[in-house]
Amino acid sequence: MGKNPREFGEITDSWNPITGCLHGCVYCWARNYAKRLASMGVEPYKTWVFEPALAEWRLRGKIPEGRLIFVSDMGDMWGDWVPKEWIESVLKVVRSKPRSKFFFLTKNPKRYLEFENRFSDNVMLGVTLETNRDYELTMAPTPRERYEDFLRLSWKHKAVVIEPILDFDEEFIDWIYDISPKVVYIGYDNYGNKLPEPKIAKTQILLEALNGTTDLRIKTIRKAWYEN
Ligand code: SF4
Repeated sequence: MGKNPREFGEITDSWNPITGCLHGCVYCWARNYAKRLASMGVEPYKTWVFEPALAEWRLRGKIPEGRLIFVSDMGDMWGDWVPKEWIESVLKVVRSKPRSKFFFLTKNPKRYLEFENRFSDNVMLGVTLETNRDYELTMAPTPRERYEDFLRLSWKHKAVVIEPILDFDEEFIDWIYDISPKVVYIGYDNYGNKLPEPKIAKTQILLEALNGTTDLRIKTIRKAWYEN
């Protein structure tokens, strides 16, 4: 891999060998989608809905080459509840596919630390940090815990996902600088959850502060719901 910040490209595919999540975020879209898939008879949701599950057959399925694949966007495969063997079985597939690139995302980055020597060069490790504040909208580790654990992780391809963005303090910008991620995704909630969002002017200050320091991927940027 070179120094090109866009070397990982855009996420075009998802692959869900491990599904389900127990973090219980109030704004979770995946939980509702899993319920819909369950009602349509799609496995593993039909059996497990949003309880943690390993879809073993997906480990043997075809993985597209030359793409950036979001692994387990239907859950958090790094939750404390996920057996080590499940994670290892996914990483084994990832290591065997050097022509594909894989994007992992979690709200529990301390779990990455257990596997620090098991990641191959085709892996981008992401953390969700919607804010620096603890709004108690999730049972996942607090943003501060996530930040501290992710900072401890030494990995060359790191990403921060600020989505759905929540109102924040100035130190949040320092957190991102400290982590020094290759990529930052940023966007407002898309599902009408009326979250404690920052005003658009404040988000623009954050965007300006990050501009040029990382590969900034801008998603939905709009006024906070209460500004309309
Ligand atoms: S961490 Fe992600 S998958 Fe889990 S409950 Fe929260 S939003 Fe849903």
